[in-house]
Amino acid sequence: MGVFEIYKQLLKAFGNQNWWPVENNFHPKEWEICAGAILTQNTNWNNVEKALNNMRKAGCVTIEDVLEIDEKDLRELIKPAGFYKQKAERLKIFAEAVGSSENLKTFLRKTSRENLLRIKGIGPETADSILLYAGNRRFFVVDAYTKRVFSRLGFFPENQNYETVRKFFEKNLPKNIKIYKEFHALIVKLAKDFCRKKPFCEKCPLKEDCSFKG
Ligand code: SF4
Repeated sequence: MGVFEIYKQLLKAFGNQNWWPVENNFHPKEWEICAGAILTQNTNWNNVEKALNNMRKAGCVTIEDVLEIDEKDLRELIKPAGFYKQKAERLKIFAEAVGSSENLKTFLRKTSRENLLRIKGIGPETADSILLYAGNRRFFVVDAYTKRVFSRLGFFPENQNYETVRKFFEKNLPKNIKIYKEFHALIVKLAKDFCRKKPFCEKCPLKEDCSFKG
């Protein structure tokens, strides 16, 4: 079974995930996605939600707000997301690179992936999440879940490098942004619910096509 067939099977099993999850009270909403993509580095989404909620409550919801707030205060707001000193600095550096809330959509439309990767603290997974979900640009997002699931399915070794895995998906999927968005979200769901570190294969929707012996 190819990766597109796997996508269709997961979509049938789980339905649309409609990512990226936003509450729509950052301005513009693309900024909520960018901030979330930076905050989610090395932590789980529940912790990111807490950090984003603190920012909402403090009225720190635009790029200008992040540029203006004292870095120490920003650290306090985002503390639940962990690595808060590093992430506060990264949010500010990203906000500086964009310039203003008004400028964000243009920035997301025009920036190159290479340019994003030159910003301190923006690695490939964060860059591709920002480009795909905030910028509607066709870059496939790879994370540790993607590598775990697809290595178990026999496509590549789990330690395969990021770019090779990204290009593999981009080569083997229809060139469709909606599919890229959904597929990444479906992989995350599969990895959280079934293909965990200790997999729960019995009820996995891919079990007929998976020969992983854990
Ligand atoms: S059958 Fe097991 S190892 Fe294979 S994808 Fe499903 S949960 Fe992962």
